Amino acid sequence: MNTLANIFVPLHRIIPFSNVEGQGNRTSIFLQGCKLNCLYCHNPETIARHNPEAKMVSLQYLYDQIMDAVPFIRGITISGGEPTIHHKKLVPLFQAVRKTGLTCYLDSSGFFDYEQTLPLIEITDKFLFDLKGDGLGLQTLCFDRKNQAGLIPTQPIPTLQHIKSDNLNRNLANLAKLLPLGKIEEVRLVFITGFFDAHTLIAKVAELLRHYPDVLLKIIRVHSKGSRDPQGLNAHIPTLAETQELADFAQHLGIQRIKVI
Ligand code: SF4
Repeated sequence: MNTLANIFVPLHRIIPFSNVEGQGNRTSIFLQGCKLNCLYCHNPETIARHNPEAKMVSLQYLYDQIMDAVPFIRGITISGGEPTIHHKKLVPLFQAVRKTGLTCYLDSSGFFDYEQTLPLIEITDKFLFDLKGDGLGLQTLCFDRKNQAGLIPTQPIPTLQHIKSDNLNRNLANLAKLLPLGKIEEVRLVFITGFFDAHTLIAKVAELLRHYPDVLLKIIRVHSKGSRDPQGLNAHIPTLAETQELADFAQHLGIQRIKVI
């Protein structure tokens, strides 16, 4: 039985050549489905687990698409949505792709069960790893699945009691486990005001990153393009000066490679 031909994943889209999804030219594969609901998500159509516009494709189809892009690529990046929700299915694809000498990256929110995902982690070359913030505001910003319309709340941010608090720690705990394995290429923070204290988060991240000077910190000033509630989001866009100040703060704490976008 050909495993690749018998395992199917929901494909949102595929970009044969991309140079913004990790090192070198890469084939980027966007899978459908994410457990989070970030209100700034610029790909909100990928959040739902099921979307009629996403087509079920076999791993063999993806493998063939990747091979068509050789020799112009250095590897592949699986993005989403959140690729780790398909962790079991991705293992045979990564095994096959790595045999050809290409590298396999994951572009992840950083919220996954580490133990369950371990077989995929072990054969992942690098993560592009999101920092999602911390505290109760993050629950409203990224974990409120009931807010399907993606509307930015106008009231003070409520405490969402139904969300387990250990979700909030999982992101940094996963980062702490992946760094010593050399699996992190970059960490990325979408910088937005009003939901969490970015300075506190950066201070926690600096504690981890200062031992790994090669890891890039990207600070991405939130933008409203492609989001579900651009008007609401506009009130939470930090100024250029605030964004640069956060980068300076990170540098002051010992993070060596920083890029502001
Ligand atoms: S984790 Fe990424 S894909 Fe998922 S909702 Fe947040 S920004 Fe969108």
